[in-house]
Order: sequence, then C-alpha cells, then structure tokens
Amino acid sequence: MKITDRHVVTLNYTLTDNDGTVIDQAQDSSFVYLHGAQNIIPGLEKELADKKVGDKLTIKVSPEEGYGLRDDKRVEEVPREMFPEDTDIEPGMVFHAEGPNGEMITVTAIEVTETSVKIDSNHALAGIELNFDVEVMAVRAAEPVEIEHGHVHGPEGHQH
Ligand code: ZN
Repeated sequence: MKITDRHVVTLNYTLTDNDGTVIDQAQDSSFVYLHGAQNIIPGLEKELADKKVGDKLTIKVSPEEGYGLRDDKRVEEVPREMFPEDTDIEPGMVFHAEGPNGEMITVTAIEVTETSVKIDSNHALAGIELNFDVEVMAVRAAEPVEIEHGHVHGPEGHQH
C-alpha cells in the first residue's frame, strides 16, 4: 500500500540540524499522522507521497517548507504585567500564548527588566534546515471519522 491522501502512516524518524545535533526522534513506531491533512510540515509530507512500508528516506527540508523563516517582527518588547505577577521570568523561559489567529504559539523570553520582557515568538525551528532520516513502518487506509476530524485516532494517536 502506497502513501496517498487519506492514509494513516507510521514513521520512525530522526531529525537533525546541519551540525548533526538530534532535535527530535521517534524510533518505536509511536509517531503516526494522517497523510494529506497537513499534520506534518509540507516538505516532509511532499516527499513521503507514494512511498511504502520499508522505504527509507533522507529528506532535507528548507525553512520555507518546514517551520518558516525567522521573522524579526516576532521579536518584541512587551510590558512585564502581561505575565503573571507571581512568576519569576528569566531569559530562556517558554510560555504558551494565543496568536493573532487564535492558534497556540510558543513565546520565549529573551531579556527581562523590571518593567518589560523581550520575547521571541518565532517557532524554535524557524529558519533552520531540517534533516530527516525516515523509515516508513506502516500504512493503512484512514477511517471515515479520522478523515472527518483531520487526525489519527487509536492507541497511538489522538484520543477522545
Ligand atoms: Zn478526532
């Protein structure tokens, strides 16, 4: 069975940056996604099309087809009182916030003063070339409800 839209795919993968540092990995068949539903970054989804179980791929994904380019406008200074008063904010701390379109974004504190916090809301992997070593572990047709929801159900996937 080939990987096409409306199929559930199990992958083992290792993701490294250009220095060979491992950013993320799953080697126990715990990663599943619904193909054609933008569950994964475009550069990876595109290369997996028409592949089958047992195929091993090395895929280099540009920032444009990964987590986007870094945007300097996403580095900004905000008033200290936007953060909980009882929290000690230190550079490197990560917060979750709601983005302009209601989506969840991750915000990293870069500099902290008494009155302001400089934050970076770029994705941590924005602007980085991504190197995936991928093996296709399983492919199955998606259930109608999975297609309707746009994500995988079941023991390894999304639970309701
Ligand atoms: Zn669902």
